Amino acid sequence: MSDTLSQPSVAPADPSWWFADAMAQEAGVPPSPSLTGGIAADVAIIGGGYTGLWTALALKARKPSLCVALIEAKLCGSGASGKSGAKVHGYWASLAGMSKSIGDDAALAVARAGTVAQDGIRAFATAPGRDVWWREAGNIRVSASPAQDAKIASYVDTARRLGVPDTARPLTEAGIASYCRSPAFRAGVFLQEGANVHAARLARALRRAAIDAGVLLYENTPMTGLDISRNGGSPNRVRTARGQIIARDVVLATNVELARERLIKPHVTVFSSFALMTEPAPEKLAAMGWTGDQGISDMRMFVHYFRKTIDGRVLMGSGSGPISYDGDTSAVRLTQDSASALRAERGLRRLLPGLNDVKVAKAWGGPIDISADRLPFFKTMPGTRVHYGCGYSGHGVNPTYIGGQCLASLVLDEKDMWSSLPLCTREVPGLPPEPFRYYGGRAVRRAVLACEDAEERGQPAPALASAVAALPRLFGLRIGTR
Ligand SMILES: Cc1cc2nc3c(=O)[nH]c(=O)nc-3n(C[C@H](O)[C@H](O)[C@H](O)COP(=O)(O)OP(=O)(O)OC[C@H]3O[C@@H](n4cnc5c(N)ncnc54)[C@H](O)[C@@H]3O)c2cc1C
Repeated sequence: MSDTLSQPSVAPADPSWWFADAMAQEAGVPPSPSLTGGIAADVAIIGGGYTGLWTALALKARKPSLCVALIEAKLCGSGASGKSGAKVHGYWASLAGMSKSIGDDAALAVARAGTVAQDGIRAFATAPGRDVWWREAGNIRVSASPAQDAKIASYVDTARRLGVPDTARPLTEAGIASYCRSPAFRAGVFLQEGANVHAARLARALRRAAIDAGVLLYENTPMTGLDISRNGGSPNRVRTARGQIIARDVVLATNVELARERLIKPHVTVFSSFALMTEPAPEKLAAMGWTGDQGISDMRMFVHYFRKTIDGRVLMGSGSGPISYDGDTSAVRLTQDSASALRAERGLRRLLPGLNDVKVAKAWGGPIDISADRLPFFKTMPGTRVHYGCGYSGHGVNPTYIGGQCLASLVLDEKDMWSSLPLCTREVPGLPPEPFRYYGGRAVRRAVLACEDAEERGQPAPALASAVAALPRLFGLRIGTR
């Protein structure tokens, strides 16, 4: 059935299913005010997604007397944070890639920080009165074509080599079937760190907690300009349409919008990710044996990621959306690309055929910030007190907690486990400049998709596509490599 689909049954469009649900739950609650007039604060945070909100909470937790103001262009959680697949896990699944790009010790440090983050998110999500659908049962990566089998082995081998075998346990076909039965699953690896959450309710709960902690929070307030103080001069000035914030420290937590900043542009490009949500089908999930709360992903480079919801729906995502030119996030294709939504739906039908007659309730997509080594970075602009964090590379729900802690440490000048992480200290590798980045990225994306589609059909990857798909590795890049 998956190959016979020529159009997605639901065209992708905002808002995400999550955000619509969270807003319906909040019906009648007015948004935070927008900023009018001038205010002074110790710290101004720009962006009300997970990064900005975790940063605000970390600052207030560490130094309650600090005056923290946060402005959000639209509504908190309306960006990537309220669109995500909301699969929550740190970096144990990334050990193999990280050990190559930043070394074994640094890879282990980042993975351990992810576990601290997981503990922090769990504590927040499960606090009394929070209805954010937190479910924690681990994460499974499955091979869904012979070409994907080798990647499973690399997970298991790296975990053993680094002395952490329990973080990646191999699963046979029968082992996977004990979690979820599908004819497409061949072998797998069980990663013990993994949870699912309601993407937008988590963001909205963070917003509520920030307000309760005393953060001055303004929605529908885009930053229109930033006058940066250099070398300890007058404070920074954040400009908005009808007001301004004078602040000693500024944290830029605007995610993909940072990809056009002069300092960041060499290291980050913008692709897009698409997801769909099905109608509820708990009886069909039970028939497939998917009764636990494990999240699952295949081993494609343009990964299919999937998880259940507490009302028996399945979210299926495909990280295969188009690239943007020069970090432009306004291109319609980043949120409305039917071909990417179709890939998510084909993935649903192929990987979970037990759901073949279950309807898609909603589909959506959004831009994601891909860094040259697929890891985020948290830094301070030299000679200023302006800090920023981005580069999550489609994996931000757990890492934005790390980001909040790292950015809080940078604001407070604290030399601690967060500010010493490679995510703050490493030199982030560069990407080719435009127009090579766009045209090269587009060609490699098409080639990788052609290879992965052929491999799923049991055919060899086309020779030309294989050659093009191999180019990033030849140039020493970590993105675009299979
Ligand atoms: C479809 C999709 C699926 C994903 N699935 C997963 C997943 O399953 N697991 C995972 O770990 N990660 C996933 N991700 C990635 C994850 O969602 C992001 O990495 C993470 O949410 C980034 O959080 P953020 O706060 O940095 O960005 P955002 O949530 O985008 O927040 C940035 C905010 O800044 C605001 N803003 C921008 N410009 C301005 C301005 N000038 N003034 C004021 N405010 C401004 C925006 O409105 C936005 O709300 C997914 C992403 C997408 C798009």
